[in-house]
Amino acid sequence: MVRGPHSEGGTIVTSKATPADVLRLEYVAKFEYTYAAGKYASRFMAALKESGELYGIRCESCDKVLVPPRPVCGMCGGRTGEWVEVGPGGVITGYTVVEVSFIDPMTGVERPIPYGFAFVRLDGASTNIYHFLEENRHDRIRIGMSVEPVFKPRSERDGTMSDIVHFRASHGDNHE
Ligand SMILES: [Zn+2]
Repeated sequence: MVRGPHSEGGTIVTSKATPADVLRLEYVAKFEYTYAAGKYASRFMAALKESGELYGIRCESCDKVLVPPRPVCGMCGGRTGEWVEVGPGGVITGYTVVEVSFIDPMTGVERPIPYGFAFVRLDGASTNIYHFLEENRHDRIRIGMSVEPVFKPRSERDGTMSDIVHFRASHGDNHE
């Protein structure tokens, strides 16, 4: 189901124009969408919300486990089939520390800087997800470092990747 765009709350601002000018309207629109996440994302997000379990899906052609699950393999174009539980731990495969503040498009507010951001290869997965890190110092983050997700309390989860607050260094670092 797709609804929107809605224009409720929008305002039209007319600019000052001389007779020789073309009339110009500035319109500030507020868009709110409700959309179906689809069969694969729905199952993935429902599991994340209800049980904190993370799933990938195995490609029937190249055997890679893709996270998040999808109907077609992005690497070889093959069909996917078997759902595979992955994680919850994983390793960092790439990272940065963000030092420049900007408005987070997911929340509309600036995220306090500095903060760590990483590609994480969940255990059992062949692809990366990306997420925030608890750690925000370059000298405390390294590629290959084992991490684990920190989940929001169940009552605050809404079935999005934001149900994971961030990843933190896991105590049982067994990927050395
Ligand atoms: Zn494949």
